[in-house]
Amino acid sequence: MNLDIPDAKQDWLNTSVLFSTPLLAVIFVPYYWINFGFTSFDWICFFVFMYTTGTGITAGYHRLWSHKAYNASTPVKLWLAYWGACATQNSILKWSADHRRHHKNVDDNEKDPYSAKRGFWYSHMGWVLKHYQGSTADLSNVNDLKKDPIVNFQAKFYVPLVIFSNIVVPIFLGWAYKSYTGHGNSIYGVLVLAGLLRFVLNHHFTFLINSACHFFGSQPYASKDTSRDNWFLALFTYGEGYHNFHHTFQADYRNGIKWYHFDPTKWTIKLWSWFGLASNLKMIPEKQIMKAVTLQSMTKKKEKLYQRLNLADENTLCQKVENCFNELTHSMNEWIEESHKYFRFCKDDSKSHEEKQSYAEKLEDLKKAFEAKKAQLLEVLNAPSINALEAV
Ligand SMILES: [Zn+2]
Ligand SMILES: [Zn+2]
Repeated sequence: MNLDIPDAKQDWLNTSVLFSTPLLAVIFVPYYWINFGFTSFDWICFFVFMYTTGTGITAGYHRLWSHKAYNASTPVKLWLAYWGACATQNSILKWSADHRRHHKNVDDNEKDPYSAKRGFWYSHMGWVLKHYQGSTADLSNVNDLKKDPIVNFQAKFYVPLVIFSNIVVPIFLGWAYKSYTGHGNSIYGVLVLAGLLRFVLNHHFTFLINSACHFFGSQPYASKDTSRDNWFLALFTYGEGYHNFHHTFQADYRNGIKWYHFDPTKWTIKLWSWFGLASNLKMIPEKQIMKAVTLQSMTKKKEKLYQRLNLADENTLCQKVENCFNELTHSMNEWIEESHKYFRFCKDDSKSHEEKQSYAEKLEDLKKAFEAKKAQLLEVLNAPSINALEAV
């Protein structure tokens, strides 16, 4: 199947930048290492630039501007806009417009700019090499961002910022270090490592979010699209490897929701909030997440049971399973809804301690009812044979 849009013209600027920089890195990094050597300062700058440009995209372009998952103070916005430009993945406006289209039309080959259904290569970087239909200059879905002066400033001075942050600053740092300490054989070590090598690695690490995170991993929250959770990919994508969670709950400022999930972007935003630099960190209520996980795991078990016992949709046994499924969903929804009401009820000072106590008991009963329905459905889903299923 030919998935290319026939009249898509080559984007020569993107093509030349994305192919020449890896080539230059492959040549210059070993050449410089052998002939001049890298100082520890060069390496420190490399890792710092990896972190700042990576989070410029993930904490800035992605979670702040595209999804508004938290509010950032002006210094943080300026910081993210600068490092986001250094990452050289287009302006905040263009990047966010593409990303919002990705979420709205995920896997739609015409409307999702980097649809994974077009293949790994296309979603990784093929989509920026040509002027495809899905990736247009249409900025109508980022009107809110156009009101932000920092976003507009960054868009206006994007090219000078790219040159300044990728070339001028690394050369200056190398020069300043050598002048101050006298160490190092040349001033260009920072440029080669934190400029060139970081530029290439950071590009491909963040590109993995659109490609690999839609191909490899599990789907614990939903199977409505190709997004996947993958802890290994999170190590390279600044925490964005938990992509199935993100596609299911895009408003959440976290991608890895457990404390041990490797999500440096989440930790960075949290750290800012402790210093008053970020606020209104949005989190999906725990029970909402539990509901998605429960429904998803039960649906998978149900599909396996139908396959294992060779049940057709019209089978009365299927109806029995569906009934149990619906009862579980109903009792879970009831418990969650009442939990929200209880939260508001407790905040109401006009309610007595006894009233709150009795509401808490009602909630406990709803929780028990939900657990009983879940156990009942599991018993049905784990039935070893048709006879056993009939007997449940
Ligand atoms: Zn997103
Ligand atoms: Zn995605």
